[in-house]
Amino acid sequence: SWGAFSDKGAYDWSSEEEEPDGRARPVQVLVVKDDHSFELDEVALSRILLAEEVRDREVVAISVAGAFRKGKSFLMDFMLRYMYNQASDEWLGDPEEPLTGFSWRGGSERETTGIQIWSEVFLVDKPDGRKVAVLLMDTQGTFDSQSTLRDSATVFALSTMISSMQVYNISQNVQEDDLQHLQLFTEYGRLAMEETFLKPFQSMIFLVRDWSFPYEFSYGQEGGMKFLEKRLKISENQHEELQNVRKHIHSCFTNISCFLMPHPGLKVATNPHFDGRLKEIDREFINNLQVLVPWLLSPRNLDVKEINGNNITCRGLVEYFKAYIKIYQG
Ligand code: GDP
Ligand code: MG
Repeated sequence: SWGAFSDKGAYDWSSEEEEPDGRARPVQVLVVKDDHSFELDEVALSRILLAEEVRDREVVAISVAGAFRKGKSFLMDFMLRYMYNQASDEWLGDPEEPLTGFSWRGGSERETTGIQIWSEVFLVDKPDGRKVAVLLMDTQGTFDSQSTLRDSATVFALSTMISSMQVYNISQNVQEDDLQHLQLFTEYGRLAMEETFLKPFQSMIFLVRDWSFPYEFSYGQEGGMKFLEKRLKISENQHEELQNVRKHIHSCFTNISCFLMPHPGLKVATNPHFDGRLKEIDREFINNLQVLVPWLLSPRNLDVKEINGNNITCRGLVEYFKAYIKIYQG
């Protein structure tokens, strides 16, 4: 059960929206409804981010975004394991332990376009002595029809504006349409921000799942950077449209990086009874998970959310969230 690795240890996690049984859980804070309108659950958002222990702390907001059924929640559950067991080298946990967290319930049947946040905000000591609040967000879109693409673009834009690090979860490769989607998403965000703010976004990480050409570009961050450099390269003989997508992406983010993840194995991908236990995941995947997750979340790598050059607190983030959503409700 969840309890097995929610041993508080070095962590004093704080704001807690608890289930009757005391478990932390994912909380839907933004929903895109069938009529394409947006609904922000301000009460839930405030309960989590305005809790006394966290509200005046500077916030690190980490978002994972992308289409449904591409392994986002699966990854986020490992991110949670790391957050709960960070003090330990054994953060990955017991090989027989089922994986829980964002996929805890609902799972794959319910496909809501929107944003979920983890109900516990983690307090982490950075090496420079600052204590920061870490918020984890799961952002989902559909990308299948024009109308849902627009919804997804808005959700993606919002989550990119709110986060200090956006992980763009994509399958197999960085395709031209992944880049086009990204351009559309960030264009939405930029339009909204130009009215009030100077600088657009912070860090963007392309996370490529099921990478199958390690002989060309090796798994991990170094191979990822080389691969991405090639994909985002602007050359003269490229079509103007392709050049523009690339220029736009470069102009939007302070940091852009990429990580290539191997396939997790057939049990993960196809067995309906698979419950996430490590024992049934390919070793290569686990090895890379052990690099990826600390690379994203270790205290020294956590960047506080900045807007207009100012560090943002949890309290500030709630205000920005409300202000941004108004732009789209317009
Ligand atoms: P989400 O909708 O993006 O959050 O996707 P989920 O995390 O719910 O995973 C959807 C399905 O993909 C599940 O059956 C997982 O076991 C499986 N899965 C998780 N990670 C990966 C991966 O890296 N590659 C593949 N092929 N499948 C994965
Ligand atoms: Mg999910």
